[in-house]
Amino acid sequence: MREAKVTLHNSARVAIIGGGPAGSFFGIFASKLARDMGKTLDLTIYERKSFFTHGATGCNMCAGVISESLVQTLALEGINLPSNVVQWGIESYFFHTLDGSVEIKSSRLRQRGIATVFRGSGPAGSLAKGIQSFDEFLIEKAMEHGVCVNRSFIDKVCMEGDKPKLYSAGNMLQECDLLVGAFGIKGSTGKMYEDIITGYKVPPTIKTAQSEIELGSDWVVRRFGHSIHIFLLRIPGIKFVSVIPKGDYITVSVLGKDPKSDHIRAFLDHTAMKKFLPSGFKIPEKFCHCFPKISVGAARKPFATRAAFVGDASSTRLYKDGIGSAYITAKAAAHTALLHGIEEKDFRGYYFPTCKFLNRDNLFGRLLFAANNFISIVSPISRSYFNIVQGEQKNLGENTPYSDILWDMFTGSRFYKDIFMRTLHPSFIMYLLSAIVIYPLKKTFYSFRNR
Ligand SMILES: Cc1cc2nc3c(=O)[nH]c(=O)nc-3n(C[C@H](O)[C@H](O)[C@H](O)COP(=O)(O)OP(=O)(O)OC[C@H]3O[C@@H](n4cnc5c(N)ncnc54)[C@H](O)[C@@H]3O)c2cc1C
Repeated sequence: MREAKVTLHNSARVAIIGGGPAGSFFGIFASKLARDMGKTLDLTIYERKSFFTHGATGCNMCAGVISESLVQTLALEGINLPSNVVQWGIESYFFHTLDGSVEIKSSRLRQRGIATVFRGSGPAGSLAKGIQSFDEFLIEKAMEHGVCVNRSFIDKVCMEGDKPKLYSAGNMLQECDLLVGAFGIKGSTGKMYEDIITGYKVPPTIKTAQSEIELGSDWVVRRFGHSIHIFLLRIPGIKFVSVIPKGDYITVSVLGKDPKSDHIRAFLDHTAMKKFLPSGFKIPEKFCHCFPKISVGAARKPFATRAAFVGDASSTRLYKDGIGSAYITAKAAAHTALLHGIEEKDFRGYYFPTCKFLNRDNLFGRLLFAANNFISIVSPISRSYFNIVQGEQKNLGENTPYSDILWDMFTGSRFYKDIFMRTLHPSFIMYLLSAIVIYPLKKTFYSFRNR
């Protein structure tokens, strides 16, 4: 006799480990779809943090930029970000290099369509009132859909026997029909699953440095405007720095090779950044900073019978739109579990293709970031690219392919493969090459003539 297929039956118990975006999105989509199918599910999110605490302990440590595509997608899902969650609306990006600065706008962006948020209730030591954590907001949305929340740290999971069992501090909390791993990569929980889920391996990560600097909202609006500032300054050990305005604060996010607080200080001391800080600004002895890990690859086999991993614990877009990736993977896993089943072959057949799509796209992302790195360190090319972009920004209504590439790469609003293909267009390459040759010739001509 054939064994019965393992599916989520009516009133099945689903345990979601992690109440970051991936966990809440899974809860919301599973609950919605179950209701549409005339089923009820017993869904519980286990989250160890309280997002009401200020500083790193109550925060999922990220730059907090919600891409324009995600803001729009969430609105279509009926999730509108309220004003106490959105700290700032973004309308442009500034790129600062040693050759100068250029502001990039996109004619596609709806007014201030990119949002910046705090993942927790605000930086350490902040007395700012009225800040609502983005993660807590999503948890509340999940609760509105009937998902329960248990603020416990799951320190042991047992996969022996028919169903997974969850433990905290020696107590068994529950046995479940489906275990959803939405625990991210910033803690050590993932390692525990490598031992109990055959074939699962957490994604490779690198360390980043992040800090919140209080400047007052008047200063922030005057100097940083409604723009995200990307600095490509060739500071040793730093790839690039993003500065994100958020009310009274700016978030400084450093990507590089093993960045430390000295890298944050070196950046704040750089002449290109000093222009943006009040005169006599001194880096406080103590300031809110952290060194979260960021995923730079994919998890291996993020599923098993009765288990699926979503968000950072599975696959995420390289350097961009991690919260958007959490949305994509959580939705795909929830749909697979409800529409196809919860056996390994169901997740392999219907969920894994979504992860593979993101992983393949990241290969193009890797090429684009390598090219961007190369361009930013080779002065003649970076100056030429810079000039083309400046020219395009004067005629925004027209075709702006070079600006669009930077915009799409840094906002995360398009998939990397799509961006990469555009760079292969013969006219794109020809125009850039001619600019690289013509710019130095023009410069030599004028300096010769003015002699
Ligand atoms: C420096 C930096 C900047 C970034 N900037 C951006 C950005 O601007 N925009 C963007 O979209 N993405 C950004 N990201 C990526 C983004 O942070 C992640 O992709 C996103 O948070 C993934 O969501 P998640 O729910 O999978 O994991 P997480 O957000 O990490 O959530 C996991 C949750 O699980 C909980 N947890 C873990 N283990 C347990 C356990 N055993 N028991 C109970 N709870 C547990 C944790 O407390 C946490 O709340 C950035 C990342 C870094 C490092």
